[in-house]
Amino acid sequence: MTSPEDALQETRAAYEEHARTCRQCHYDGARCAVSKLLLRAYNNARRAQARTRPAVH
Ligand SMILES: [Zn+2]
Repeated sequence: MTSPEDALQETRAAYEEHARTCRQCHYDGARCAVSKLLLRAYNNARRAQARTRPAVH
């Protein structure tokens, strides 16, 4: 089972690697569909993790 923190690390790594390597994202500066999906997964993971560990105010 993957913990929210692991999911956050993995989705962020996947997104950053895509941003580094995707020609389409580099070509016109616009996010491609894959990039949007990865970014959404990353945002979801971030929210999930925030629920498990409330932010310090
Ligand atoms: Zn891309």
